[in-house]
Amino acid sequence: MIKLNYKEKHIKKHPTTRTGIKLLRVQAVVNHWTANYGASAENHFKYFNETLPNQNDDLPEDDKRYASAHIFVDKHKALELVPLNEVCFGANDGGTARLKLQTLRATDSSYPEGNANLLCIHVEMCVEPDGTIHPDTIARTALVHQYLQRNFKQLRETKNRFVRHFDVTGKNCPAPMVSNPNLWKELLELTDSKVVIPPNKPAVIEAKEENTDSSKTNWVRSKVDDLRYYSKPSWEDKDVAGHLPKGYGFPQAVRKVRVDNAWQYEVKNSEGETYYLTASEEFVSVEHKPATSTAQKPAKPRKSGPIAIGEIKIVNVSAAAIIQDRPDRNKSKNLGTIQKGRTIQVTGSVKGENSDSGYWEVIYDGDLAYITGKFGKYSAY
Ligand SMILES: [Zn+2]
Repeated sequence: MIKLNYKEKHIKKHPTTRTGIKLLRVQAVVNHWTANYGASAENHFKYFNETLPNQNDDLPEDDKRYASAHIFVDKHKALELVPLNEVCFGANDGGTARLKLQTLRATDSSYPEGNANLLCIHVEMCVEPDGTIHPDTIARTALVHQYLQRNFKQLRETKNRFVRHFDVTGKNCPAPMVSNPNLWKELLELTDSKVVIPPNKPAVIEAKEENTDSSKTNWVRSKVDDLRYYSKPSWEDKDVAGHLPKGYGFPQAVRKVRVDNAWQYEVKNSEGETYYLTASEEFVSVEHKPATSTAQKPAKPRKSGPIAIGEIKIVNVSAAAIIQDRPDRNKSKNLGTIQKGRTIQVTGSVKGENSDSGYWEVIYDGDLAYITGKFGKYSAY
């Protein structure tokens, strides 16, 4: 059972972190993730109490970074860095132009243009070294919500009073709960639960895959007989919508979605109805037909080789990502490396072994090879 373990440890006042300006009222709670891999709540106390103020003191006004949040939650505790009646610099990125929730457009003499921060308590979820949000952190965040609801009656209507940073300004924060809105829904459900039990999985950023251009067709065909397809993203028997004979398929792959630990294609049939089926290379193939009039055609792999469905840009590495001969970082041979920022064609992705983010199946030297999932940012062709 997770305990709230709430501690007040206020940072010193500083014009870039804790101004002491009072909230106009508490209207909403904005949830964030810190995006600081491996940094605990205590680490953030140190950052906002010393590191950032010191850095800012040495910088010209225009270069100073204004940032703060009220409560930092990690898998061990919840730390209140700023009193809950003071303004934090949490969600005014892009100013009023980016404000999506007009109900949070508050003004006062310090912020004549309007600023959501005047009305919000900011809660930050700390991030594990692997970039996930720990189940205990999620559960404790729900307990923090309940604590806030006990102290501020107006927050009791969870659905309308708890928002993501993303909902306020469109920032990709908390990223795992933007890429997968169900994780956010689960946190709100947990907030409304009498007994808060940590989810059985950490919150993970799902590889974002853009919708394919409607002028393109990506047939997804079954390589086997009797392949199940589903009415929604699911592997459950009850959601099976039908079975595909070998060679049959759907004319349009819309995108790939993560379902539990594996991938499915979201597809449309010729009537435009949406279904889901496995994205495993073992069971399906994808044929890509670019629109005939596309001015910029992506480079195609040689005809006899694997077919690319898109490309990834190498990200989240310091210099280069390793290209492996199989999707298992412990057993694979290194075929080469690819520099950060470069792109490489992909045929899909696989779960593989020993990688929480799975592996991209890439085309390297005309053959299939593998790159750890979190090192690639995908764009569909
Ligand atoms: Zn945020």
